[in-house]
Amino acid sequence: MLKKVRNAYPAWLLVAALTACSQHYDPAVLSNDLDWIDLSYSFDASTLYWPNNTKGFEHFTEAEGETALGYYYSSYSICTPEHGGTHLDAPIHFAKNKSTLDQIPLSRLTGHAVMIDVSRKALADRDYQVSVEDIENWEKENGSIPDDTIVLFRTGYEQFYPNREQYFGTSKTGPEAIPELHFPGISPATAQWLIEKRSIKALGLDTPSLDYGQSKEFKTHRILLGRDKPGFENLTHLGRLPAKGIYIVALPMKIAKGSGGPLRIIATVFAE
Ligand SMILES: [Zn+2]
Repeated sequence: MLKKVRNAYPAWLLVAALTACSQHYDPAVLSNDLDWIDLSYSFDASTLYWPNNTKGFEHFTEAEGETALGYYYSSYSICTPEHGGTHLDAPIHFAKNKSTLDQIPLSRLTGHAVMIDVSRKALADRDYQVSVEDIENWEKENGSIPDDTIVLFRTGYEQFYPNREQYFGTSKTGPEAIPELHFPGISPATAQWLIEKRSIKALGLDTPSLDYGQSKEFKTHRILLGRDKPGFENLTHLGRLPAKGIYIVALPMKIAKGSGGPLRIIATVFAE
């Protein structure tokens, strides 16, 4: 019953409530009734980082257990490279003078999204790059990507996470791993097409990088981030999303001057 009511919300009402831009709707009234899908991995010792990050996620125990006064207390420290696990690439990662992590407008991190599933091709070819044709095929079925949309690509590679060899294409780490990286990404032509022909807020996918593993020049990063738009990498649970009718909240840790950082990204689905 609740589901019926929820699905009856028109998209504009949901957006108005979630962005709290209307004085007429209390965001809590609608958001309390939403089912959120977590598109993030947990951070722990198994979290995958780019091969040149020799240290991964570290979680130190500062205090844990019963205190002298008889109550329980725990506190930990964390240490992590910016780019690993589910994380956000800030524009400055590949574009000088563009936004650092803390400068990205919240409006670019929240909003409508579409999910383009290329897993059939990507699972058959570790070097697959999402093509313009993939988007045109999606649009034939779903209509043109609306303005101000976050575009998510599903390659199916989450099924390999956190097995480094299967996910990256090599179990090696360090500089010698780089030439052996084989995983799908978004072609530079596709990124350029999306920037020029559509109005996108951000791109995201379920692989370690916007560019495919064999990329040397990271052109897709440079095209997207060069337009001051962020990227979301190492996403999960994209298979639980429909092609459209998705609302995303993607909030990274607010690291001053950061080039990227750990990202909590969640989605909710509504009928259009
Ligand atoms: Zn990154």
